Amino acid sequence: MASLYIHVPFCVRKCGYCDFYSGVAGDADIERYIAALDREFALRAPTGLAPETIFIGGGTPTRLSAPQLGALGAILKRYVDLRACTEFTCEINPGTLTPQKADALVAMGVNRASFGVQSFEPKYLQGLDRAHEAGVAPRALEIARAAGISRLNMDLMFAMPGQTLAEFESDIRQALNLGTQHISMYALTFEDDTPLTRQLKQGTIAEAPPELEEAMFQLAGRVAGEAGLARYEVSNFARPGAECAHNLVYWTCGDWHGFGAGAHGMTGGVVTRNVADFAAYERCLSEGNVPHVPDAPMAPAERAETLLLMGLRLTRGVELQRFRQFTGVDFHVACGEPAGRLIELGLLELTPAHVRATPRGMLVLDSVILELAMALGYSV
Ligand code: SF4
Repeated sequence: MASLYIHVPFCVRKCGYCDFYSGVAGDADIERYIAALDREFALRAPTGLAPETIFIGGGTPTRLSAPQLGALGAILKRYVDLRACTEFTCEINPGTLTPQKADALVAMGVNRASFGVQSFEPKYLQGLDRAHEAGVAPRALEIARAAGISRLNMDLMFAMPGQTLAEFESDIRQALNLGTQHISMYALTFEDDTPLTRQLKQGTIAEAPPELEEAMFQLAGRVAGEAGLARYEVSNFARPGAECAHNLVYWTCGDWHGFGAGAHGMTGGVVTRNVADFAAYERCLSEGNVPHVPDAPMAPAERAETLLLMGLRLTRGVELQRFRQFTGVDFHVACGEPAGRLIELGLLELTPAHVRATPRGMLVLDSVILELAMALGYSV
């Protein structure tokens, strides 16, 4: 019952911080892409898939028009059995949702919407080069709810250049006031070769000081927690039962199929990567070939590193039995020595069933994982 991820690599415009495989395209390109997706399903899933969770991400899936979303829905009807599917999420840029598109999503089976809000402050949306205006998020949520999509997530960003603690708190409170059951809050990262990173190098903007970023991280947990949304992953907060089941598959190194240009998948610990280039993806499929790029299978140590990298992000941590099953090695044998040091430092804890980062360990999670990964012979 592997999950299903579908990548839609089109955006209204490219955000200044983004290094995902996505770009601006016209309707003709989008229609060619949908036709290519159809061929990919025909080639890779001729007898159909029955996923428990589905996620359409991007990019901006709602860059597609309502008829284009309808065409995508028709493909899924042919190849995907939704009877076992409990969660079907679509990412939405708030400025792109219309009632017609929301209806097309519901007709496709979508029951959860993830809104890329990032901030309610116009100056930060402009600073990020986001395509939507500050006031559109409440209306977009209303449209989704009116169409029948009741499970809602909002993505917020913090540690943006110039952002104050009070401004971030105001963003969190506005998101909570809109009645969302789930919030993702990520610190802005400066990826290589993005316009924002070039501004940083030119000195026209400055990174948030580390103490402020840490204060924002703590604030996120406190304000969301007071409203009943617990931190269950380092950047994700949910009311009980509203956790994202699809992302939990990634964080536990479960099985999922990735469709679309640039999409990744993993089944039985074997990673598949689709070529991250629309022209190459389309060419491959028109020649009748699966659009995967060759990838060496993960060695046990690499599996262990991947599982720790993903699973320690969860507040419940990594299940020791899952570690053994996924890597073929006992956690105590693979990482016992550094784990002992980290436990003494109060950064890691072991229960009979799990290894997990402490709240202090969560603040320096990259270092905790690096320490464990070094024992495996890898550096993160
Ligand atoms: S909308 Fe998302 S995928 Fe598209 S450019 Fe912005 S951050 Fe990147």
